[in-house]
Amino acid sequence: MERYSRQMLFMPIGEEGQRKITEKRVLIIGCGALGSANAENLARAGIGQMVLVDRDYVEWSNLQRQQLYTEADVENQIPKAVAAKARLHEINSEVEIEAYVMDADAITLQPLLRGIDLVMDATDNFDTRFMLNDLLQKASIPWIFGSCVGSTGMSYTIFPNESPCLRCLLDAIPVNGATCDSAGIISSAVQMVAAHQTTEGLKILVEDQAALRTSLLSFDLWNNQYHTMKVERAKKQTCPSCGENPSYPSLNYQCRTKSEVLCGRNTVQIRATQAPDFQILKKRLKRMGAVKANDFLISVEYESYRLVFFQDGRTLIHGTNSIEKAKSIYYQLAG
Ligand SMILES: [Zn+2]
Repeated sequence: MERYSRQMLFMPIGEEGQRKITEKRVLIIGCGALGSANAENLARAGIGQMVLVDRDYVEWSNLQRQQLYTEADVENQIPKAVAAKARLHEINSEVEIEAYVMDADAITLQPLLRGIDLVMDATDNFDTRFMLNDLLQKASIPWIFGSCVGSTGMSYTIFPNESPCLRCLLDAIPVNGATCDSAGIISSAVQMVAAHQTTEGLKILVEDQAALRTSLLSFDLWNNQYHTMKVERAKKQTCPSCGENPSYPSLNYQCRTKSEVLCGRNTVQIRATQAPDFQILKKRLKRMGAVKANDFLISVEYESYRLVFFQDGRTLIHGTNSIEKAKSIYYQLAG
């Protein structure tokens, strides 16, 4: 246990807490900037098991803040969950890691919730967070909301049945704010949110519930502002997610839409009912443009677009915001 000696010297964790950490299983939704930072912190802290979910692959614009990835990951177009798993294994080979390259929605996540002690929100959008809010209320799993944009960030710890849920806080949170693709982001804002998320996570893992922060935290590093807002009284009996008669509205609506524009990214995602045969597809695409392929995806440069086909049937069409345009290119190439 030499490896964790400094952490065990920290009284609120100690030997007992360290043992608990190594017995726990955490689910991290999203392997971008927040996901990288939280996953690295928890792997170094000696978490027993980690489940990673991300639908994307590593690109140049990620390297400035997504700390687990390298230039080689970009060049080889490695899916983030896969690249993260490999890097985390180098950091701490004792951690058992599962990686899933897929969309995080109510249907794909449900089977992954078994035995999960903690969920880290490392997503980049509020649709997914409200889905998580309902899913985790229903499953009674604690989770830690985190978001950042520019030099600002927010974090909040949700203990089902006790804390007001994310929906209860709706009025306090700017849901339709800028995203990091439209307003940019500095890596220190990510680190600050992740520092709070990991710390709250450790408190949950060592079962020190009394130490949890019950307020909504927000900050702006560039403008030197740091804020905590008391929210205990925000819990609503009538809340459809955490109230007396929950209807879990974000689980009911059709979340597996077939096609969607990825906000701020000039990219459309199309979902086929079944994944194409990769060998046939690869041959076909080679006649269309420059092709790159690995065990997880095939990409092709075609005119001013880049199409990336994943094994779960999803395709990303970079270079357009129009679903119609994306579909026509997709059918031209994939047949
Ligand atoms: Zn609520």
